[in-house]
Amino acid sequence: MHDQGLRNDPASPLPSHSHSSSKNGIQGLTGLIWVRKALTYFRFPKLSLNPGLVHGVFTRQKGVSNPPYDTLNTSFTVGDRPDDVMVNLCKIKETMHAEHLVFMDQAHGDDILVLRKGDFYGVGDVATADAVITEIPRIAIMVKQADCQGVIIFDREKAVVASVHCGWRGNVQDILGHVVTKMETVFGCRRSDLLAAIGPSLGPCCAEFAGHEKIFPRYFERFMERRNYFDLWAISCWQLVNSGVRAGNIEVAGICTRCRTDLFYSYRGEGRTGRFATVAMLRS
Ligand SMILES: [Zn+2]
Repeated sequence: MHDQGLRNDPASPLPSHSHSSSKNGIQGLTGLIWVRKALTYFRFPKLSLNPGLVHGVFTRQKGVSNPPYDTLNTSFTVGDRPDDVMVNLCKIKETMHAEHLVFMDQAHGDDILVLRKGDFYGVGDVATADAVITEIPRIAIMVKQADCQGVIIFDREKAVVASVHCGWRGNVQDILGHVVTKMETVFGCRRSDLLAAIGPSLGPCCAEFAGHEKIFPRYFERFMERRNYFDLWAISCWQLVNSGVRAGNIEVAGICTRCRTDLFYSYRGEGRTGRFATVAMLRS
């Protein structure tokens, strides 16, 4: 897998603002490792250094769904043909070499699904949750998004990994902080050991929230880049650091989904559209 990785893939140029530092000092990564095989995805540089973890942020390319879900849509609830979604999910599962692919009925809440050894049987109902944490190898845990953040949190010491769906409602509820706390209380993770990676999502260029006074806690104003535009990447970083994750252990892709609908889905940019996948899995 590693030999297929292309650093700074020239075929996927990022808009210039993705590389620049925002007012809050959040810098988009320039060293994303792009992989172009049966599917196109990228890996985060620091997470990739851990042999105990497999992960990928999948683009919308090389799937089978028709417009407006073209093409690697992973959601059954956006109006796409279920058979096409199933084919796409199978492609992702194969790419990850996973025994099982676990996803949730995401509800912009703060419920967390915990999968422990001994309580997972492979097939079951889809839980309503926005984060999943597991210690079980070879189970690929996936979140689906179109503008929201897919966040991977990994503890290499305890071999525990979480996939989190975090939109602005997730930020308001501090779901990232809740996941970190759960990793500590259930699995004994040390917060300072955790690595975190924030995927493509609505950037400060496009995250306009008119009427934010009614929906955001007051402290979010610290992350307002210009009138009504917020740096949600910086808010997530701050919430992770506030929960005990070291700033140096956080990676931010720095890719705005609304600006890059060629690579990812954007609810704000496209309305009726698909959901792309962020997937993480412990290696056995
Ligand atoms: Zn943008």
